[in-house]
Amino acid sequence: MDIKLHDKYFKPFISSKEIDAAIERMAYNIHKDIGDEIPVFVGVLNGSFMLVSDFVKKYPKPCEVTFIKLASYEGVKSTEDIQRLIGLTQDLKGRTVVILEDIIDTGNTLGEIYRIFKNEEVKSLKIATLFYKPDAYKKDYKLHYIGMEIPNKFIVGYGLDYDGLGRNLPEIYQIKQTQHMTNLVLFGPPGAGKGTQANFLKEKYNLVHISTGDVFRFNIKNETALGMLAKSFMDKGELVPDQVTIDMLNAEVEKNADANGFIFDGFPRTNAQADALGKLMESKDSAISAMIALEVADDILVKRVLERGKTSGRADDANESIIRNRITEYYNKTAILKEYYSAQNKYFGVDGVGNIKEITTRLSAVIDNL
Ligand code: AMP
Repeated sequence: MDIKLHDKYFKPFISSKEIDAAIERMAYNIHKDIGDEIPVFVGVLNGSFMLVSDFVKKYPKPCEVTFIKLASYEGVKSTEDIQRLIGLTQDLKGRTVVILEDIIDTGNTLGEIYRIFKNEEVKSLKIATLFYKPDAYKKDYKLHYIGMEIPNKFIVGYGLDYDGLGRNLPEIYQIKQTQHMTNLVLFGPPGAGKGTQANFLKEKYNLVHISTGDVFRFNIKNETALGMLAKSFMDKGELVPDQVTIDMLNAEVEKNADANGFIFDGFPRTNAQADALGKLMESKDSAISAMIALEVADDILVKRVLERGKTSGRADDANESIIRNRITEYYNKTAILKEYYSAQNKYFGVDGVGNIKEITTRLSAVIDNL
């Protein structure tokens, strides 16, 4: 389950079980090196409080535990300038000291830690960190024990916070690349009113409307390679091949990387397209929120599309047998997607007969409830 802290959304990233296993390994390796000597474990507050607590419970031999507290004043001074809020409170001369850090990213704090211990005459100073971001690390201090290497993305939980929140979470969450999106699949046979309704909904919910049919028609008008390819299928009322359509859709979504969400109109039309759409949304840390289907009887559809054909200039709107072929394509190939999204509890049928405003109200009721 995703969580929200302040204004940001986070997704589960590292489970408590994985954290536990990493700490177990650290305790094992540290003990193996230290043997029977009594080490002093030094936690770096605030972030390390959970790690220290769990770590020392796993440490198999007697040990001492203490804390230091450092702070960086971002915005006031440079983040490189780390202040000592609580320094060392006991004599560590001749002792084996292991620093316990929750996370090491740039390594700035390590510089201050080495400064603190410079005159302490400890026997040895080792650095242990639960998480390590190799891509962010800018220093060359040696890290002796690493629980887990992680990518350079912002994380919270298990002692780590986002502006004060999240420290109490027992597992690690990663910031979502794309913050919350509403992604709707507007579904229904040709003539159901998807395009008309999408125009109202995109304004109301501030979404980007992508109609695959419109994109193909735009390409045909401009005589692009994609248009030429699509035209032969479209003129007969058949579906354009999946890979062509999927590549085109991916490109349209990429063009709108900052969108609040999308209304997909005329896509997906096959299972392969639905799978591709799922993957695309996942790559944005998002998902399809709902498929909303406009339900209209065939005879009404034919009448509506013939009426539209008088002005749309679309070859596939002008002829009843092509229209019927498109409706048949819909029921043969596309209607199965009802099951696809029903299985995820994301399918919502809406009566598509009535005046345009009424239907917008019905659709909005579904969206507002998501
Ligand atoms: P539409 O404007 O949605 O009725 O689409 C018109 C025509 O474009 C369809 O009959 C297909 O030939 C083609 N088309 C639109 N979307 C797709 C899609 N997702 N997959 C395959 N063909 C499509």
